[in-house]
Amino acid sequence: MMLISTHHFRDIERKPEYLQPEKCAPPPFPGPAGTMWFIRDGCGIACAIVTWFLVLYVEFVVLFVMLIPSRDYVYSITNGIVFNLLAFLALASHCRAMLTDPGAVPKGNATKEFIESLQLKPGQVVYKCPKCCSIKPDRAHHCSVCKRCIRKMDHHCPWVNNCVSENNQKYFVLFKMYIALISLHALIMVGFHFLHCFEEDWTNLLKAYRFIRSEEDKSSPFKLDRQH
Ligand SMILES: [Zn+2]
Ligand SMILES: [Zn+2]
Repeated sequence: MMLISTHHFRDIERKPEYLQPEKCAPPPFPGPAGTMWFIRDGCGIACAIVTWFLVLYVEFVVLFVMLIPSRDYVYSITNGIVFNLLAFLALASHCRAMLTDPGAVPKGNATKEFIESLQLKPGQVVYKCPKCCSIKPDRAHHCSVCKRCIRKMDHHCPWVNNCVSENNQKYFVLFKMYIALISLHALIMVGFHFLHCFEEDWTNLLKAYRFIRSEEDKSSPFKLDRQH
């Protein structure tokens, strides 16, 4: 790997002791392959719970305020199926984005043995992360929340409680797309619901007005005069 960024120089210059591979020990308990990825960050977990709560609250409002009380069954069932499907896909994408390893570099692999096993050519330089003691591939960045170096890291998103990177970017984009679709669908249904309520209220008002007028006409003393 060739030197590209001055950031790596700064890390190395500031803490030269990290250049010594003897300082790096492999992690004491390497996790078994296939272990579920989950970031234990309080803020991220709270934000992920808020995300789920908001989606489920919208689901509740759409179902119990707008669709179930509606007397148009075809409208209710069609919109109910579409909305529930999109909400399910949004939550499933959120889970996949949250529980997928975004592309973490093995922790603590910057050991003397590992560096020797790379069989580097003279003059070839490898980057080492001073925080998680791993050999940093090109375009990898250290995430202070995940406490790992992540390949092709885009950003750490607290709403999915994970870094967005090469392995979970697809699920993150899908999650945003489904959220945008259910928001648009809910807004359209709110518009129809408002128009329907307005129309119903206006019809009732007209009926009440006509009824009062007819009652007034019946009791009016001028009614007899008009018949004569
Ligand atoms: Zn790191
Ligand atoms: Zn992260």
